[in-house]
Amino acid sequence: MKAFKTIRFRLTFWYSLLLILSCVFFIGVLNIVVTNLYRSNTFVPSGPPRMMIKNPSLYEKMLSLDEEKREIFEEYRGNDLRNFRKTTLFSLIPLSLISFAGGYLIAGQMLSPLKELNKKIKNINIKNLKSKLSYEKTGDEISELIENFNEMIARLNLSFEAQKEFIENASHELKTPLAIIQTNLDSILLDNKITKKEISSLIESSRKSTKFMNKLIEDLLLLALLENQVKKRKLSLENVVTESTNNLRKIASENRIKLQLDITGKHFSMSGNFELLQRAIMNLIENAIKYSPKKSAVEVTLADNKDTLTVDIIDHGRGITEPEQKKIFERFYRTDKSRSRKTGGAGLGLAIAKKIVWLHKGKITVASKKGVGSRFKVEFPRNNI
Ligand code: ADP
Repeated sequence: MKAFKTIRFRLTFWYSLLLILSCVFFIGVLNIVVTNLYRSNTFVPSGPPRMMIKNPSLYEKMLSLDEEKREIFEEYRGNDLRNFRKTTLFSLIPLSLISFAGGYLIAGQMLSPLKELNKKIKNINIKNLKSKLSYEKTGDEISELIENFNEMIARLNLSFEAQKEFIENASHELKTPLAIIQTNLDSILLDNKITKKEISSLIESSRKSTKFMNKLIEDLLLLALLENQVKKRKLSLENVVTESTNNLRKIASENRIKLQLDITGKHFSMSGNFELLQRAIMNLIENAIKYSPKKSAVEVTLADNKDTLTVDIIDHGRGITEPEQKKIFERFYRTDKSRSRKTGGAGLGLAIAKKIVWLHKGKITVASKKGVGSRFKVEFPRNNI
């Protein structure tokens, strides 16, 4: 029964049915024409039938025949007509058989690459996503299908690799602070000669590691959340930027950084998620503070342009080299791993900011010079809804 459901069978069936119906129609028309011809040429003594008009000698001959002979002649003609009908009708049987068998064979041959493809697809698993299905570039639908399939597998492979790398990085980032806490606890528990001062220093170090882990887990959860649809509503980007800057004033003053906010224009409404946008802008300002020397200034500017709303975060800190600028938005990328850990980051801040801005149809760009400072520009289209 499975064979009846195959494309091969269905293709053969419908194609044969169409062919047989066309033949039935053709035979029907042929029979009607022949019967009409037969009737119009039946001999009547009152005048020559159509066929004999052009051949008067034949009509003369027929007239000269007696009744009985003419009847025999007519009977032969009648038999010929019946034989013609039978033959044409029975010819449908071999025609159907040939059409079905031939069609089945041809369809099988045409569809054989699909069968091959099916077999190969069955053998695909996560371990051999790199191998491509081989095919002949004939340009037909099947070769196009295999080409698209190969491209899809390549995309899947990329995302699996990225996922694997992400998990490896996340585990690695979590392992280091956990190891620090473990060592600190062991020292406190096992070292009999440990002083109170040493204990409080070990506890402080463990506290920092816990804080780092907390931030990392928060960022990981946020990244996972950003894979889903985010809720947006009408908001004012001015409020987002002002609140973000104000939230960081304390940290800025602790680091003796002058944090300035400059707003040009007044039409800052857009569609977005307030908390997420705030997270993105805060990540950028936090970085500017983190990577700037004491007593320097961090400037945040907000401008309402004709087609875009732009936020610039400018610092006069250590700057980023050009090769680094290409990588800083990647997850877990840090220009200086050991220093960055001290400043509290796992290299997710910019990746999160970029994703949030992207979810709002905007873009982030960076312009920076090593030793001079950096400018992170965030642009949102006015009609980002
Ligand atoms: P982190 O949590 O390490 O700060 P980010 O994703 O926010 O991670 O930043 C990635 C890297 O980009 C940082 O490790 C830092 O080296 C670099 N970076 C980001 N912002 C700045 C900046 N304003 N000045 C200099 N370097 C920066």
